[in-house]
Amino acid sequence: MVMSNAILAGVELGGTKCVCVLATAAGEILAEERVPTGSPGEALPAIKTILRGWFESDRAFSALGIASFGPVEVDRTSPRWGQIGQTPKPGWSGVAIAQELSGGLPVPVALDTDVTGAALAEQRWGAAAELRDFAYVTVGTGVGVGLIVDGSPIGGFGHAELGHMRIARMPSDSWPGSCPYHGDCVEGLAAGPAIAARSGIRASLIAPHDPIWNYVGHAIAQMLHNIVLTATPRRIFLGGGVMTAQPQLFPIIRQALLQSINGYVSSPELDRIDEYVVAPGLGVRAGPLGPIALAAGVAGTESGRISRIA
Ligand code: ADP
Ligand code: ZN
Repeated sequence: MVMSNAILAGVELGGTKCVCVLATAAGEILAEERVPTGSPGEALPAIKTILRGWFESDRAFSALGIASFGPVEVDRTSPRWGQIGQTPKPGWSGVAIAQELSGGLPVPVALDTDVTGAALAEQRWGAAAELRDFAYVTVGTGVGVGLIVDGSPIGGFGHAELGHMRIARMPSDSWPGSCPYHGDCVEGLAAGPAIAARSGIRASLIAPHDPIWNYVGHAIAQMLHNIVLTATPRRIFLGGGVMTAQPQLFPIIRQALLQSINGYVSSPELDRIDEYVVAPGLGVRAGPLGPIALAAGVAGTESGRISRIA
């Protein structure tokens, strides 16, 4: 069990920005620095400089957590552990992020997806403390879901990629979507870049009552329909840049979810939909505290020390 005053470091690798975080094991953020995701050749050295600066200061951390966009190999027994998978993000395919970021730092390293990290942060410090079954969804540069079932993130040969599920389209909507792999999967319809591609302007410039938010909300609600029927989570947290900036999506999503389920499943949770589909208890700290929650899980262990792997 990690002491609550232990210092932990984390890196949240997002589609647009990387957030380096220094925090206590009690979830108190001590420092936060941002680096544009851009190319790995630029982002990784900048992140390493920040981590090394913290480590060599009087705030040496005892574990490092990395919470990354997917796909990323999170299976420790795989020879590819720590590597980004095939991704349209230029230059990032195959980059060994865990090795790159932790090389030379004599601390245990934990790696998981950004959304699993955020879910575990909600469980450790936020509004999922008493929950063993819940989902953390991010709608930002991409759409991702950390689905926790019986206390653990779901996964088999890899981590889940629920943001790319195919869904029933809104009647009369035939826009092809922007996912380079699937077109109109949820991410291709609801992530920030998809919203910009459909509207022709940046998502942040679209009025809150523009009808486009109904399309976005419908896609997210369809994904939630499938998640509810798959895992019956007790609560669903919606975070990320799009949800944070566009809170009018919450009532649209709640209503569309209930309409889609159409009474087939009933539960006290669904009866209180305003408390079921909610913003993260940690607010915008859910993402940055994700890698800290991962680090807390390996602090004091030998796990992932790079000297073991090299
Ligand atoms: P990341 O995806 O890098 O982890 P965020 O979750 O903060 O980061 O999401 C950033 C994305 O959120 C941007 O790519 C943009 O598409 C979207 N976004 C940013 N500001 C707004 C806004 N005001 N309204 C809607 N979408 C926004
Ligand atoms: Zn897709």
